[in-house]
Amino acid sequence: MKELGLWPNWRLREPVAAGAAVEATLAADARATPAINPLADGSPAPQARARTIKDATSALPLDARAAAIAQMDWPQLKESVAACIACPLHKGRNKTVFGVGDEHAEWLFVGEGPGADEDAKGEPFVGQAGKLLDNMLVAISLKRGRNVYIANIVKCRPPGNRNPEPAEAGRCEPYLHRQIALIKPRLIIALGKVAAVNLLRRDASIASLRGKVHEYRNISLIVTYHPAYLLRSLPDKAKAWEDLCFAVETMKTLQSTKPIPI
Ligand code: SF4
Repeated sequence: MKELGLWPNWRLREPVAAGAAVEATLAADARATPAINPLADGSPAPQARARTIKDATSALPLDARAAAIAQMDWPQLKESVAACIACPLHKGRNKTVFGVGDEHAEWLFVGEGPGADEDAKGEPFVGQAGKLLDNMLVAISLKRGRNVYIANIVKCRPPGNRNPEPAEAGRCEPYLHRQIALIKPRLIIALGKVAAVNLLRRDASIASLRGKVHEYRNISLIVTYHPAYLLRSLPDKAKAWEDLCFAVETMKTLQSTKPIPI
């Protein structure tokens, strides 16, 4: 709570109730990569199959790529992301940042993309913003890796920590969709505007999206501020705390009334 800047005044109460540029890059990548159907199952050997999947999906058009990724299991998905060259962000990355946590978590936190620390380590939210996120989790009796999964809209670091372009987010989207389908979380917390806009597919301010339960593919979704923003904006930490309390109360409702989405 001290880390959140809320102690000792705040306490959890009792229940109150693809753009053209990307396609050009893909075409170039496709020329450099053997075009193999990722779903063709001659399956000679596991490693060869993994190479086939990761190479082929990067070169596929959007719909075919999404369909291929939607069939992947966890190991295939991780292999595919690790070697993905489906958008220009792959050129500047050190490591892809797949996501981390409990693959059967009820809570899914989604940020926008890796920063420098995450790019170096290959794990989401490991810098100062990550510490704050961990403290936010502790404040509502959660812990990274235990009933919590953390992912981003894009798996590679945008240069200069800029927001991902819509085309980049669009190319990466099938990965997050597949992660969500495999995890089957009860509640998604969108951290910041980029995550919220991409998941909800509508442009709106954080202020207008907070305090409501939205839906992403029949999964409840709540919007709050990105921890990196909260590090720069102390007054909004109190609002983030309100959002976390709202999320806790929402989860209680979901656990008592709603089956985990399939
Ligand atoms: Fe592939 Fe996503 Fe990285 Fe782009 S950001 S190269 S789509 S993993």
